[in-house]
Amino acid sequence: MKDCLFCKIIKKEIPSEIVYQDETLTVFKDINPAAPIHLLIIPNKHIVSVQEMEPEDEEILGKLFSAAKKAAEVYGISNSGYRLIINNGPDAHQEIPHLHMHLLGGGKMKHPMG
Ligand code: 5GP
Ligand code: ZN
Repeated sequence: MKDCLFCKIIKKEIPSEIVYQDETLTVFKDINPAAPIHLLIIPNKHIVSVQEMEPEDEEILGKLFSAAKKAAEVYGISNSGYRLIINNGPDAHQEIPHLHMHLLGGGKMKHPMG
């Protein structure tokens, strides 16, 4: 997608701190972290949101979770815990129309959510 910020990050047309990338997904640091560790895990395919996903995207979305698990291990928070968030649409304040999973960790978070 030509004008999509996250597609540009994937293609390295704009700078970001990419910590992992393969043929399916890209993991990079959020520019405005909401926790000591705040990563964004995104499919390389331009999928706008969970609501826009197709059945054939199920495998890709599964891989986002595997990448989150791996990142939690690499960042040493697999035991202390972390939160995975996918904002979807205006009420959830999805700002970037390219599906992304937030991984937040490294400190105690507020509970309950919302
Ligand atoms: P959303 O509100 O759509 O779920 O989250 C979008 C996230 O993208 C926000 O946490 C925001 O800080 C992050 N973000 C927005 N623009 C950029 C950018 O140019 N680079 C990086 N690394 N993160 C960004
Ligand atoms: Zn995109």
